Amino acid sequence: MQRRDAAGETKTALERAQRRMLDTGQWGPAQFVGRRTAIGCVALEITQRCNLDCSACYLSEHAEAVKDLPLEEIFRRIDMTHRTYGSDVDIQVTGGDPTLRKLEELVAIVRRIRELGMRPSLFTNGIRATRELLTKLTGAGLIDVAFHVDMTQRRPGYASEIELNEVRRSYIDRARGLPLAVYFNTTIFDGNIDQIPEVVAFFTRHSDVVRLVSFQPQADTGRGMVNARSPGITTTSVIRQIEHGLATQITFDTAHVGHERCNRYAMAFITNGRAYDGLDNKTIYNSLLARTSGVRFDRQLPRRAVVTFLRCLALNPDIVARGSWWFVRKVWRMRRDLVAARGRVNKLSFFIHNFMDACHLDPERIKACVFMAATANGPVSMCLYNARRDASILRPIRMQQMDGDWFWHPLTGELSKSEPSIEPPAVALKRRKSRKMLSDGTDAAL
Ligand code: SF4
Repeated sequence: MQRRDAAGETKTALERAQRRMLDTGQWGPAQFVGRRTAIGCVALEITQRCNLDCSACYLSEHAEAVKDLPLEEIFRRIDMTHRTYGSDVDIQVTGGDPTLRKLEELVAIVRRIRELGMRPSLFTNGIRATRELLTKLTGAGLIDVAFHVDMTQRRPGYASEIELNEVRRSYIDRARGLPLAVYFNTTIFDGNIDQIPEVVAFFTRHSDVVRLVSFQPQADTGRGMVNARSPGITTTSVIRQIEHGLATQITFDTAHVGHERCNRYAMAFITNGRAYDGLDNKTIYNSLLARTSGVRFDRQLPRRAVVTFLRCLALNPDIVARGSWWFVRKVWRMRRDLVAARGRVNKLSFFIHNFMDACHLDPERIKACVFMAATANGPVSMCLYNARRDASILRPIRMQQMDGDWFWHPLTGELSKSEPSIEPPAVALKRRKSRKMLSDGTDAAL
């Protein structure tokens, strides 16, 4: 999508992304954004309601009072995202929990995204994401499902991350066999950092279905009651815990996605339950990234992605020649596990997303941001949006109708001809609930 930049030059979305990476010192041969894609992903919040009450929730205290945006406005935001970045974009259909939206509306949203060539992902706590729902959404064009499961959610009956593996297992079973890439999100806080190795070991055992695991250290933003991150939770400490769970080191600084202080990525090959670093050769990675920047890999059907990858290799014999020694050594190291697993190898990716505190936003990271929220005025950095949610969710939405402009009221859902002024609701339901649990001492996880 071509647009004029500040200097008046017409630039594609990819060129604009590259410029942002250059301006913030993040451009280099390993940078994904501006080379393969114009943006990491865009979050489309289709409801502010949620059926959980996470202690580290990023939503506003007023979220529960806000009505679901009209479908028309959701479609306008989808179209606006498409105009900004083009088709090669991942759209997280999220909330609140998106499954609380009416089924036919959720299906229509997923279909609209896919019709424009973009990739819809469902981001959910999984409670209402039944097999039937996932099947329906897959039929409408869903590409990925990301389940958020962790101890910040305070699911009744689960006292540890290890116990929550039972919930994760049931979600994996619901998605198994569907043409969907399955991801899991985990917020990291004091109450679970020491249990992350067991969680990682669980995902390793289920890498036949699970494709990517994202860890997000808690940030002081939103209505949640877990606030300042303790000094023991850092990107480095999270990497250590992941490696502990894998029983091997993996390289988190080969692939770059946006700003290095925001995102870290690594990938492991899993065979016979054992992990092997997939990104320990930077030269080969950079060459492959440069030569395949225009190639799209199928996330729904891994076999098709492998065929695409092999085709790329066939077209780049010099990379094959340079990488063959690395490949032979890797296979040699894996040989016993490869034999035991009859050659079966899964790919498991790890992502660490380091959200910022609302009161400590770094302008450079905001400029290099690759995770945007779709707002009424277009995509905005998620950290910035999180820090100022009320300015976005408590504003009237201008709607163009046949008989001129109307305004949609976020607290009543009514339309009016004149722009209403909006007072934030007096009662913040979820935060009050969290506070009560804290003062009662009923929440041991905090
Ligand atoms: S949302 Fe925040 S942490 Fe994530 S990429 Fe954007 S600025 Fe960085």
